Amino acid sequence: MQIIDGKAAAALLRAEVAAAVAARVAGGRRAPALAVVLVGDDPASGVYVRNKVKACAETGIRSIEHRLGAGVAEAELLALVEALNADADVDGILVQLPLPPQCDATRVIEAIDPAKDVDGFHPVNAGRLALGLPGFVPCTPAGCLRLLKGVHADLAGAEALVIGRSTIVGRPMAALLVGESATVTIAHSRSRDLPALVGRADIVVAAVGRPELVRGSWLKPGATVIDVGINRVTGPDGSARLVGDVAFVEAVEVAGAVTPVPGGVGPMTIACLMENTLRAAG
Ligand code: NDP
Repeated sequence: MQIIDGKAAAALLRAEVAAAVAARVAGGRRAPALAVVLVGDDPASGVYVRNKVKACAETGIRSIEHRLGAGVAEAELLALVEALNADADVDGILVQLPLPPQCDATRVIEAIDPAKDVDGFHPVNAGRLALGLPGFVPCTPAGCLRLLKGVHADLAGAEALVIGRSTIVGRPMAALLVGESATVTIAHSRSRDLPALVGRADIVVAAVGRPELVRGSWLKPGATVIDVGINRVTGPDGSARLVGDVAFVEAVEVAGAVTPVPGGVGPMTIACLMENTLRAAG
C-alpha cells in the first residue's frame, strides 16, 4: 500500500519550475509574472491566494495581487481583466472564484485572454482539452494526473472512474484520462449504484465535496485512489479537521495507492499553477 505523497511531488515540481525560471532570468529574460485577482473577503479564497503568492515567491515567479471590494461592479472587474490582458508584463491571469453575485463568473472568465488563462477555465482552453489539443489544463486535474502517473507508468486500458462532473475538476479530469487511453466513466449525483461503479475501477478520482462518501469496502483491491475532496468536519470533541471524499482509514486497507487529505492533491494544484504560468511566459 502506497500513500501518495502530494507534498513531496509538489515540492519536486516547484523545484523544476524554479530552476527553469532561474535559467530564464540568467539568460537575460524577465521572470514570469502572474496577476492574482481576489474579490471580496471570503476566508477560504484568502488562504488559497496566500498559498499561490507564496508558491510564486518560492519559484521566482513575480506575483501581482489585485484586491477588489466585495461590492465591486462587474464592469470594474472586467476593466481590470482587460488591462491585465493588454499588459505585456503580465503572463498569467487568475481570478479567484467564487465571485460575489453581481459578478458573473462565466463572463469574467471569458474576458481573460486564453493565452493568459493559467487556470484553464476559458472555453477556448476547455474546448482544446476536449479536442485533445494543447492548451492550458485546469491545475487540479493536471495535478491529479501527475500523481497518477507517479504510480502508473501507463494508464492505457485502465478502468477509471471520475466521481463529479464539475467544469474545474471532474470534466477536465475525465478528458485527461481519455487522453491517456483509459476507459473512463463519469459518475455524478444522478448515477445509479455508485458502490458498483467504484468496485469496477482500477483508478478512482473522487471530486464530490461530500465527507468520506466513498467507503473502503466499495474499492477494488489494489485500486489507485485520488481524493480531491476538501471537507471541513467537526469531530465528536468539537474540533475541526479536514477530510476528503474518501474514507481514508478504510481505503488504506484495500487500495493499492491513495492520496491523503490534506497533503495529497491540494499542494499539486498550486505547483501546476506555477508550471502553467511558466508556460504562459513562453
Ligand atoms: P462541485 O460541487 O462543483 O461538483 C461536485 C460534483 O459531485 C457534481 O458533479 C455532483 O453531481 C457530484 N455529486 C454530488 N453528490 C454526489 C453523490 N452523492 N454521488 C455522486 N456524485 C455526487 O465540486 P468541485 O468539483 O468544485 O469540487 C469537488 C471537491 O473537490 C470539493 O470538496 C472541493 O473543495 C474540492 N476541491 C479541491 C481542490 C484541490 O486543490 N484539492 C480544487 C478544487 C476542488 P451533479 O453534477 O449531478 O450535481
